[in-house]
Amino acid sequence: IQHIQTCLTMAPVSIASKKLFDYIVIGGGSGGMASARRAAGIHGASVALIEAHSVLGGTCVNVGCVPKKVMWNTASIYETLRQAKGYGYEFSDVKFNWAVIKAKRDAYIKRLNGIYDTNLAKEEVEHFHGHASFVNPSTITIKREGVDAIEIEGKNILIATGGHAIIPQVPGSDLGISSDGFFELEEQPKRVAVVGTGYIGVEIAGIFHALGSKVTIFSRTKQILRKFDPIVKDTLLDHMKKQGVQFTFDSKVTALRKTGSGIIVDFESDGQKGELEVDCVLWAVGRAANTKGLNIEAAGVKLDDKQQIIADEYQNTTAKNVYSLGDVIGKAELTPVAIAAGRKLSDRLFGGPQFAHSKLDYTNIPTVVFSHPTIGTIGYTEPEAREKFGDENIKTYVTRFGNMYFSVLDEKEPTAYKLIVSGKEEKVVGLHIIGKDSDEILQGFGVAIRMGATKADFDSCVAIHPTSSEELVTLR
Ligand code: FAD
Ligand code: NDP
Repeated sequence: IQHIQTCLTMAPVSIASKKLFDYIVIGGGSGGMASARRAAGIHGASVALIEAHSVLGGTCVNVGCVPKKVMWNTASIYETLRQAKGYGYEFSDVKFNWAVIKAKRDAYIKRLNGIYDTNLAKEEVEHFHGHASFVNPSTITIKREGVDAIEIEGKNILIATGGHAIIPQVPGSDLGISSDGFFELEEQPKRVAVVGTGYIGVEIAGIFHALGSKVTIFSRTKQILRKFDPIVKDTLLDHMKKQGVQFTFDSKVTALRKTGSGIIVDFESDGQKGELEVDCVLWAVGRAANTKGLNIEAAGVKLDDKQQIIADEYQNTTAKNVYSLGDVIGKAELTPVAIAAGRKLSDRLFGGPQFAHSKLDYTNIPTVVFSHPTIGTIGYTEPEAREKFGDENIKTYVTRFGNMYFSVLDEKEPTAYKLIVSGKEEKVVGLHIIGKDSDEILQGFGVAIRMGATKADFDSCVAIHPTSSEELVTLR
């Protein structure tokens, strides 16, 4: 984005054309693509989509969910190969070539970019490549280096510009990489420092560790995945420690320094100064909204104190006929959320009276952390549920067990499940699971919970044996 903004000053400013669209979508990521395609393909609206990058797909496809899952799969295969010996397989040492999977991953993403181009063309969405900014609430200018600026007008405008990784302002911080840089690595670093313990820190640390890098995680508290339910975050932390991942708690990274043999991380922890030499530092300290450079004031769109766009439950911003969704509003920053919100909005704007109240329900959104093992979570955490409903109205059902898969192996992985129910009818208000295959287990239970399932509903479903998920319908 910074690069794009620098280029803007060089773009010619003559106005080549001006065209009116029913809908202008700024951002060709998860939310923008879904909304544009729904508006044009299903509802027949005239739609323009503006994307600053040369490729479509946004964060998820290019530097997020998709390449991350390829790397998680890569790491999981390595784990399975190690476990295979416990099942009687004999083979000599396995060699892993980072460059091979990097090339295949890049090729896969290129194919996806092509599919996105084709899909837009099929739905007759007009695709503009350039950086969009507001001239006024209904006019957008599109600028790209070396090309005349274009102004277009929209009866409705969607801002779906996503976010970017935050890099802390400490000396030498640019010696570190963000998750974008992780996907550019041409070879596997042997020693890695990961700063931050949210989704991205935990997931990438897990990939590096499973592939054999020595990983040290810096947490500014004594926890990882701070906002998650204790059963999943504590179980994962305990397991990662047992596996040899190093943790520096209550810490603050104060500087990075380049040496002949690596990068020194200067830090403070528990009031003590320390340093650690590594080959790669990953900043995973959160993401910020892409609102700079949109000339948002010209649209009358208000931002909150985190510079995220303020949008109501219908994705309306504070400006008439200007809408926003996805990571740029900072609410449940997940691809399926951006997609669902984008489609619902297009239904409401262009689908006629039966869609007049179409909106995404942001409650009970299932989400997974691709850790090792994976975590699945939906609804309230136990502390949140106790706060909301009162201790006397909350009951938890907890189980911890060893998945049968590990019964013949020396190295075990933990499994822990917690069901949180509320009231006499024992309505399920939270489910938190960690253990092998939790990523795949959660979706079906998510459907049940969204339908208002009670503990009795769970129990009324006959168990599938032998599985791990059967424990969720036999909790005592
Ligand atoms: P984006 O997908 O970021 O799209 C915004 C687009 O707008 C970008 O292409 C950008 O170039 C463009 N843009 C910005 N400003 C302008 C402008 N002024 N003019 C024109 N174009 C502009 N979510 C999951 O659900 N599951 C996962 O496993 C998962 N893994 C992730 C892993 C990582 C490493 C990261 C970083 C994120 C991950 N996410 C995951 C989150 C997910 O990627 C985002 O929630 C999702 O991409 C948000 O979609 P969006 O449409 O809001 O924004
Ligand atoms: P998160 O908000 O999840 O985590 C940020 C982490 O950085 C927290 O551990 C936070 O600590 C820490 N932190 C913040 N500031 C500092 C600082 N100055 N120094 C040290 N640590 C700091 O952000 P991520 O970037 O990991 O992910 C962004 C979002 O992307 C996620 O919230 C999620 O919605 C989405 N995502 C989803 C994935 C999935 O669905 N599997 C995977 C990856 C991303 P503290 O806990 O103390 O606040």
